[in-house]
Amino acid sequence: VVDANARMEARLHEAIETTAFRLFFQPQVDRQGKLTGAEALIRWPVAEGQMVSPAEFIPLAEDTGQIVPIGLWVLRTACAQLALWQSQAQTRHLTMAVNVSARQFHQPDFVASVRKCVTAAGIDPSRLKLELTEGVILGDSNEVVARMNQLRELGIHFALDDFGTGYSSLSCLKRLPFDELKIDQSFIRDMASNESSEAIVLAILSMSQALDLEVLAEGVETPIQREFLRLHGCERYQGYLFGKPQPIENWADFLAMT
Ligand code: C2E
Ligand code: MG
Ligand code: MG
Repeated sequence: VVDANARMEARLHEAIETTAFRLFFQPQVDRQGKLTGAEALIRWPVAEGQMVSPAEFIPLAEDTGQIVPIGLWVLRTACAQLALWQSQAQTRHLTMAVNVSARQFHQPDFVASVRKCVTAAGIDPSRLKLELTEGVILGDSNEVVARMNQLRELGIHFALDDFGTGYSSLSCLKRLPFDELKIDQSFIRDMASNESSEAIVLAILSMSQALDLEVLAEGVETPIQREFLRLHGCERYQGYLFGKPQPIENWADFLAMT
């Protein structure tokens, strides 16, 4: 394992040097199926048609610190796309969600580097949404709150990713300025077959209403899942039912959903 990791680290280093990554975008839609924005998801193409999954290399990049330059590239690329959208009337309203990992968020200059990206791209930052996982907000919560508030002052929004899978306490949810909860796809997948998953989904939906948080269901794959979620007040959706992550060149069909 150590050997394989060392090899992957070396290849990652090369990929960073040559900017060998691509950014895919997955549509997010509202109750009517209208496009509201995208989540940016990194891809690492290695051989013809083959990609290393981010689930494989992001954790390693976190360990080695390589996530810092990678995350910066993702943020810049996503902001550049958002700037293009904001330059056209048809797409001006779309939001861009960007995943931020713990190590990246805790860099001393994280706020400054986000500010720099926003300014360089010339975007309206209120359409930029940073996705944090529970792993990010563990630890020194005063620092996390301070950092999130500095970014909010710029107009940036926050989503709590993979919600329900970690340890986030409700008091921490109240203390941190999140705008949106993303219900983890494992609960959506198991809803139909597992009563506790269904109960968890319902609890998250009613809790987010009570706390006045937006809520988005991840991994929606079937019309039955969408109907159930819609019936129980879910406002936004993301999943293969609406579209897989795609390079922006293939986005014509998604833009037709606006
Ligand atoms: P995530 O942020 O929770 O992203 C959602 C993942 O679910 C994506 O996997 C997406 O392709 C997948 N997905 C979306 N809809 C469906 C569906 O209907 N069914 C199924 N089975 N899967 C669906 P992906 O792209 O492989 O990314 C995995 C994870 O890697 C992400 O989870 C995120 O935590 C991380 N990641 C991806 N891109 C970045 C990035 O740029 N920066 C950081 N820090 N992490 C990233
Ligand atoms: Mg995410
Ligand atoms: Mg997620």
